[in-house]
Amino acid sequence: MPHDPYKALYLHLPFCVQRCGYCDFTTRAVPTGSTEIDEYVEDLCLQIRRKAKEGELTEVKTIYIGGGTPSHVGTSRLSMLLYTLSLSLRLEPDVECTMEANPESLTERMVRDIWALGVNRLSIGVQSFNDSLLETLGRAHSADDARRAIVAAQERFENVSIDLMCGLPGQSANNFRASLEEAVSLGVTHISVYPLTIEKHTPFARMVACGQLEEPDDDIEAEHMELAEKVLGQAGFTRYEVASYARPGFESRHNTAYWTGVPYLGLGLAATTMTQNSNRRMRMQDGQVTDDLDARQMAAEDLMLGMRMSRGVSDERVAAASALLPDVRTTFEELARDGLAVHEHGRWKPTRTGWLCGNELYGRLFNLAP
Ligand code: SF4
Repeated sequence: MPHDPYKALYLHLPFCVQRCGYCDFTTRAVPTGSTEIDEYVEDLCLQIRRKAKEGELTEVKTIYIGGGTPSHVGTSRLSMLLYTLSLSLRLEPDVECTMEANPESLTERMVRDIWALGVNRLSIGVQSFNDSLLETLGRAHSADDARRAIVAAQERFENVSIDLMCGLPGQSANNFRASLEEAVSLGVTHISVYPLTIEKHTPFARMVACGQLEEPDDDIEAEHMELAEKVLGQAGFTRYEVASYARPGFESRHNTAYWTGVPYLGLGLAATTMTQNSNRRMRMQDGQVTDDLDARQMAAEDLMLGMRMSRGVSDERVAAASALLPDVRTTFEELARDGLAVHEHGRWKPTRTGWLCGNELYGRLFNLAP
């Protein structure tokens, strides 16, 4: 279908050194020397060149190289990928280009090379600064590896993000607080905080089923999420999205694109593409349509995604949506009455309770156009 230009590009590298016990991402443990990785990266480069030729990359403003573990594929393959990108689109400093890396495979040499080739934001999968929790998670790195990787990244990158997990088996509030405080003292600029979820068909799901692992406790997760807001807020971070904290000016522009209805192209195994025009929005994965929304459903989805962010949605956006969704204003008023949303300075914003009861908040907005 004729579609609006893609503004964001996602590239998926589905390889890891080993599989973590909780992970259900599209990735496999493949040795770094495997020719399978060579073939995959070469094919990805061809896909990028093809899309560039078709004129699909001219308006891309953010790039995200995710996985899997992109740093696991090594410096020379990453250099080939980044060189291809630089030939295929405008990879200038104003284009946010993020790469994910894990502590066990991020080297000083890699930091220098990817920086020189246009990556300007690194997102490091730390998860915790506690060795025993890292072992429980099945991570391939220690807390010291994570500290070393962050310091190495900061040799070139001002914009360094890390992921931290909360609600882990055996993780006390003090233990989680220690990881938050260490992240702050290491000087990272962005932190994503995720509660553990038990996904089907993972080793963790099997361990929960046979009683070897306790199921995550909602109250503990909520307590940890509130602790993150408190500790990081005091340190000067803003919670700009339900799970994302940034120092001013370091909010992820790529992730913000996902939450604001910006069309994106995904290349690589299981990468999602979101393509749209004013009447229709489709998501596709590996050539299969996974979502097909009409204009009403798009409007409802935009409101729902907007409420993931602390800035929420503007009155203008709600007024525009009401042409398609006549109940929208009543729904926001009901959300406010139930303490899930608040109206402030011409915007509807989520409350802390709204974020804690996210399924309720997002579900009621999405149900405006079932
Ligand atoms: S490193 Fe990340 S992508 Fe790889 S198995 Fe672990 S959680 Fe999954």
